Amino acid sequence: MHVAVLGAGYAGVTLTRKLERQLPASVELTLVDGRETHLVQHLLHRAVRHPTIEAQLEVPLEECCQRANVRHATVEAVDYDEGRVELDDGSIEYDLGALCLGAQTAYYGLSGVRAHGTPLKRLRDARAIRSQFLDLCETGGRVVVGGAGLSGVQVAGELAELARDRADADVEVVLLEQKPTVAPGFPVSFQEAVAEELETRGVDVRTRTTVTAADEETLTTATGPAIEYDQLVWTGGITGGAALDDRRPQVRSTLRLGRRTFGLGDAVNVVDDEGKRVPATAQTAVRQATVAAENITALAEGGVGGFEPRLSRYVYQSLGWVVTVGGGTVAQVGSQVVRGTPAKALKTSIGVQHLANVGAVEDAIELIQESVSSPQA
Ligand SMILES: Cc1cc2nc3c(=O)[nH]c(=O)nc-3n(C[C@H](O)[C@H](O)[C@H](O)COP(=O)(O)OP(=O)(O)OC[C@H]3O[C@@H](n4cnc5c(N)ncnc54)[C@H](O)[C@@H]3O)c2cc1C
Repeated sequence: MHVAVLGAGYAGVTLTRKLERQLPASVELTLVDGRETHLVQHLLHRAVRHPTIEAQLEVPLEECCQRANVRHATVEAVDYDEGRVELDDGSIEYDLGALCLGAQTAYYGLSGVRAHGTPLKRLRDARAIRSQFLDLCETGGRVVVGGAGLSGVQVAGELAELARDRADADVEVVLLEQKPTVAPGFPVSFQEAVAEELETRGVDVRTRTTVTAADEETLTTATGPAIEYDQLVWTGGITGGAALDDRRPQVRSTLRLGRRTFGLGDAVNVVDDEGKRVPATAQTAVRQATVAAENITALAEGGVGGFEPRLSRYVYQSLGWVVTVGGGTVAQVGSQVVRGTPAKALKTSIGVQHLANVGAVEDAIELIQESVSSPQA
């Protein structure tokens, strides 16, 4: 029997590591990714202000796996029922598989936004944002961040803090969001605390502002006057990658996408067992990996088709949320919002736990050292 995991992000690496422990040794396990490293994406914005953190954000895939074969190739198409994957350098077949390819930045066909905006999905994006922004600090001007989800609020916070570190920089950081609040979809007390942290750092937050187009220096909005800018960072949402025809297919609570395939993480739109639409986050991707591992193991033992074993179901339960806004940190734990040092310790511990979970123990230790040696980070 062959089990294939497609994509080595939070969903894929967590799933692979669980399957390595749960599947019988006779089952062949393959992890496929177009890149050689697992990216700790939920801390990516930190690299905009602290490039020294970069080394801890990339973990070689071979370090993440104990017995899975790692195949470095780009997935071009997947047949979820037949269990066949077209790769850029050939194809593979599997008896059971998981689609964990993550997502790409969505531009919604808005004219000029892709051409003029920098997304934040890879380290090279963080580097480009930092370098453009440091140039802006020299000349003065305005950076606009489009989209105030988890990526947008955190990168706006980093940029505002970076400007504050350069006392003579005359730079304005504007954060646009089409919904009525920042961090849409999150608890109200969390949204309010995040908005306060942004305002404390001088970020000009403009909600209910829908971008409709961009040219080299102006953003057109649906609801108000055009906005002049010197740098544009686009964090306006996500959509599926090219292998999924730019779509995120929907899965229900068993996470089953087809006869032989499960889908989890940002790649898919998950509706949980209680009918709730689940936010696309690292936290939910990791939790879904537990359900996918149980279901793949059950089918590996019980067989696909015919009288299949009863599959586990995913129920979305938030463990709370933690975001950094420059030097500030906001954590929602149960109904409580916590800020400052306890929240920061929580954020560091989540990053450390993730690195340890994917097998990168040395990186985890370095992340602890980094946060201890630069408490304002
Ligand atoms: C700046 C930023 C801050 C964030 N902050 C938080 C936070 O505070 N908390 C939180 O929970 N979430 C946060 N998130 C969201 C979180 O990072 C994502 O939800 C998470 O990465 C999703 O995990 P995933 O495994 O589905 O996808 P990913 O982690 O994106 O992994 C997908 C993998 O698939 C590979 N891949 C993609 N396409 C192909 C292909 N065609 N062929 C082969 N391989 C392919 C990629 O190389 C990648 O390794 C943040 C995201 C960003 C960008």
